[in-house]
Amino acid sequence: MVYFCGNSLGLQPKTARAAVLQELDDWAELGVEGHFAGRKPWLHYHKALALPSAQVVGALPHEVVVMNNLTVNLHLLMVSFYRPDQRRFKILMEGGAFPSDQYAVESQVKFHGFRPEEAIVELFPRAGETYLRTGDIEKAIQETGSELALVLFGGVNYYTGQAFDLAAITRAAHVVGAMAGFDLAHAAGNVELQLHDWDVDFAVWCSYKYLNSGPGGAAGAYIHERYAQRPDLPRFAGWWGHREEERFQMRKGFIPMPGAEGWQLSNAQILPMAVHQASLAIFAEAGMAKLRQKSLQLTGFTEFLVQKFNSEQNTYQIQVLTPVDPAARGCQLSLLVAGNGRALFDRLAQAHVIADWREPDVIRIAPVPLYNSFGDVWRFYEILAAID
Ligand SMILES: *Cc1c(COP(=O)(O)O)cnc(C)c1O
Repeated sequence: MVYFCGNSLGLQPKTARAAVLQELDDWAELGVEGHFAGRKPWLHYHKALALPSAQVVGALPHEVVVMNNLTVNLHLLMVSFYRPDQRRFKILMEGGAFPSDQYAVESQVKFHGFRPEEAIVELFPRAGETYLRTGDIEKAIQETGSELALVLFGGVNYYTGQAFDLAAITRAAHVVGAMAGFDLAHAAGNVELQLHDWDVDFAVWCSYKYLNSGPGGAAGAYIHERYAQRPDLPRFAGWWGHREEERFQMRKGFIPMPGAEGWQLSNAQILPMAVHQASLAIFAEAGMAKLRQKSLQLTGFTEFLVQKFNSEQNTYQIQVLTPVDPAARGCQLSLLVAGNGRALFDRLAQAHVIADWREPDVIRIAPVPLYNSFGDVWRFYEILAAID
């Protein structure tokens, strides 16, 4: 089959199975002793994931921690970085953000006693356009000004595939005194990120899309190092975020670890993290720069063939919603097929093209540089071209 769904669930690394089996074996043989005597002691398991994760998102290792799942991490970081008061309480988001993000933000706003209709500002593309202009985002930030508490955007929009200019958004947010936080679910492992250099305040991502770490896999969180030594920062605490040296003294009084680790709640999810570590090792070996280089070519080739298909028949007209500028997109192309999109999608599925359907008329395809080939893209075109 042609697998173009790495934006939804990445394929399994060949090394994943052995990594999980090793932990199952250590558990079977060592029981609780696996925390200390395992081949990769569970007590410190999460630490090995920080460096390779940090390389993927362009952060310092102590700015990153792998824990929980994405929406949980979004809530935890909003607890610390969305601190509204009567004057400054608004959140600026991309319109039509992924539902989980909408629900998280709405519930946070209500939790603080504000009304979502007043506190959440959603930004939509101009009439007749399919994605946002960076200048319009900056303008909205400027206009919301001193009422703006937080800008929360996706790194890459899940629906259109637009990659936002996170450096420009962060700069604009900081100018008006707002925080800048990003959901990198569709960006991590897809586009090159420099969270630290861009001065981003916080970010979260999942590991099961482009990072190929399995359904429900452990997620990531980034917190800029300027907050590393800020025990005063409000946060929801748990024992795994407590000062490591005295974690097991079971004393009263939470003292957070410095850096992102201080936001942990619970002990590490070893089995999903085993997969994640195996997957991250592949990213470390390949490097994001090389993956992105291939990705630009692969998606450019896909777009070229989609336009070729458009010019060769009249039954289906595919409009690419994703920005044409390669710098403003990752590997995904969102194809709007007005009228008979579902029919086209079903025909592709019958021919074993695994893509993804979004009501009412969009087919998302994601040629992933790590495991999709130019041959896959060509086969996709041949299948398209054979549909009558
Ligand atoms: C995939 C995705 C999620 C999923 O959240 P989970 O907590 O991992 O279930 C949330 N937000 C965005 C933008 C996504 O793309």
